[in-house]
Amino acid sequence: MTVAPHFQFRNGVLHAEDVPLADLARQFGTPLYVYSRQALHDAWDAYRVASQGRNVLVCFGMKANSNLAVLNEFKKLGAGFDIVSGGELARVLAVGGDASRVVFSGVGKQVWEMRAALEAGVKCFNVESEPELLRLAEVAEQLGMVAPVSLRVNPDVDAQTHPYISTGLKENKFGIAIDSAVAVYQRAAALPSLEIVGVDCHIGSQITEVSPYLDALEKLIVLVKALARLGIDLKHLDLGGGIGIRYTDETLLAPSVLLDKVFQALDAHGLAHLQLVLEPGRSLVGNSGVLLTTVEYLKHGDAKNFAIVDAAMNDLIRPTLYDAWHSVETVAPRHNGDTALVYDIVGPICESGDWLARDRKLDIRQGDLLAIMSAGAYAYTMASQYNTRPRAAEIMVDGSQAYVVRPRETVESLFATEKILD
Ligand SMILES: *Cc1c(COP(=O)(O)O)cnc(C)c1O
Repeated sequence: MTVAPHFQFRNGVLHAEDVPLADLARQFGTPLYVYSRQALHDAWDAYRVASQGRNVLVCFGMKANSNLAVLNEFKKLGAGFDIVSGGELARVLAVGGDASRVVFSGVGKQVWEMRAALEAGVKCFNVESEPELLRLAEVAEQLGMVAPVSLRVNPDVDAQTHPYISTGLKENKFGIAIDSAVAVYQRAAALPSLEIVGVDCHIGSQITEVSPYLDALEKLIVLVKALARLGIDLKHLDLGGGIGIRYTDETLLAPSVLLDKVFQALDAHGLAHLQLVLEPGRSLVGNSGVLLTTVEYLKHGDAKNFAIVDAAMNDLIRPTLYDAWHSVETVAPRHNGDTALVYDIVGPICESGDWLARDRKLDIRQGDLLAIMSAGAYAYTMASQYNTRPRAAEIMVDGSQAYVVRPRETVESLFATEKILD
């Protein structure tokens, strides 16, 4: 068993659904991102089932994986989208996504992005500071429009996750301190080009416990009630994303477990009328993808053994950025295992930080194929072309079919628009 249900061994070879990964590597080369369409549907289904009978809008936190083919699947399933840039809005519109199901997050929204979102008709702006609120009011006024706003409050709770992906503490740059939120809402209420529609928070990522969410929710509920006393009534409460996935042996926080508790709390406070908005990214796509890579060289040393592979930190930066663990599977394992050694899996980039996994016991040879698991989220979307490495192709598997959903970049395309001086 691997960590990803739709990537399993059959006849001794790792498959994506019904397709042997070795076939894909042969056909499309490596490094290669491979996604499972069914995995996307199953991940969505967990939220759909957990939301049944309630007013819930699940907005896919699309920075996790914004390939149009992925967005299109979620659009068809009825998802909204949580965007963090004008570029992401353009992607949603490119697949015919419904802007009225889009929430716009992010601390640094620029004027052009606000305009584009207003003109598209987004559900709301998740406003992260008072200056942003004032800018939005001005931009809306100039367009003769009214901007729907929700304040992203920072509830000061510890999501118990990696510091780089924890966003709900006072020291983080995100959101408006919960103690100032009432004053900022009052300010917003006084601006005719703004319409207050909700409140939101997003406390971090890869959260595997329900308690940080409930702590945040309790604080949001206190705020919602204080606002109601001032005559400010909200339509929705957005709890953000951040639900964790299994990279190795993490306990899973099932959407149903989280949502049951959230509904209980809302009901207990007489707030069942509020629409619940969620912004899951990783949990909808993380285990829907793998990164295939070929072993170029094995380098044995006194202190370490290195497996030098053709994928690198430019293809998957999570290990070096967050010290993240990704499982590594040999696509066609040798079963005797008697030549297994402990390796660091590293890429060809000229950085000591260029590693994908450390201290993994593997029985491998030059030319073998490895699958870096759980590469459906924050993998391709964080990829770069560092060292003039073309970004790898993305493949979507559906049953026994494989589709190229983004071809590998060509080397020439990487500098085609550059100019030299006379
Ligand atoms: C990144 C992000 C998300 C998605 O987070 P996941 O951990 O991938 O679920 C949701 N909301 C906001 C505001 C984000 O920045």
